Amino acid sequence: MTPHWLLALPNEAYAWVGLMAVVGLCVGSFVTVVSTRLPKRLLAQASGQAPATQPLRSHCPHCQQQLRWTDLVPVVSWLMLRARCRHCEHPIAARYPATELLTATWFAWCALVYVSPSVYGGASAMLDAQASALLWALWGAMLLCCLIIDQHYFLLPDVITYPLLAIGVLASALGLTAVDLNASLLGAVSAWLGLWLVALGYRLAAHQDGMGQGDMKLFAAIGAWLGLAALPWVLLGASLSATLVALLLRWRQTRHNSAASGGVDTHTRELLAIDERAIAFGPYLVVSAVGYQVWLMSAAL
Ligand SMILES: [Zn+2]
Repeated sequence: MTPHWLLALPNEAYAWVGLMAVVGLCVGSFVTVVSTRLPKRLLAQASGQAPATQPLRSHCPHCQQQLRWTDLVPVVSWLMLRARCRHCEHPIAARYPATELLTATWFAWCALVYVSPSVYGGASAMLDAQASALLWALWGAMLLCCLIIDQHYFLLPDVITYPLLAIGVLASALGLTAVDLNASLLGAVSAWLGLWLVALGYRLAAHQDGMGQGDMKLFAAIGAWLGLAALPWVLLGASLSATLVALLLRWRQTRHNSAASGGVDTHTRELLAIDERAIAFGPYLVVSAVGYQVWLMSAAL
């Protein structure tokens, strides 16, 4: 067997993948900042309060002490501080370094896919390949923001979903994704219409809203990136996994006789008048869409 292409890449390719992993760590740190601060600001606006003035510099959410740059190095700081705040010793959740590591892995994976000989055609296509890798990396990071925010706050902010949709259409127009412009536009429109019809059907059958506008916008953005053909698969994957989790939560609820929170705190649920049995659909759309794209990328390798 000839050496696997992974072991036979030029040195620049390894450097590029490594660089993307480091960039991914920093972007992952930014994902945490966005998904912590943005929903708080939006919720404050929704409840009519003036948005709480937050210090521009990062601070400990428990003791409000400003953090030094040495406390903000992705993953390393968390390990060095042994997962505790330097000032108040309050535990720092493992989801922060986990988000950074996940983003770094995604960035490295995107970079790797586009340096593989079967995907990228040679030196002349190198810039296009790097641009495509960066675009898909960014796509994943923006979707991760949507996942975290929707999971915790039942929100899919327009300031993320609209740009995501616009970048997807633009990337298709520039030929930087495998989806052509028609499929991208058709994907966005059909996705929005499809979920709108599902929501309408649910409202007629159950006499209550089952899906938010945010889900439709997120799905439209996914349609713009993945094209029309991907949509049935993404929706099927999202619906099946969401149903499975809802059933598991319901089962746990009846066993323990306690409300299933689905990760959203009581205050946010009351503020947004969310049914205690509801689960956010956005995270399942995200996981399903990323799963579909990883499957496509793996098949191309
Ligand atoms: Zn602290």
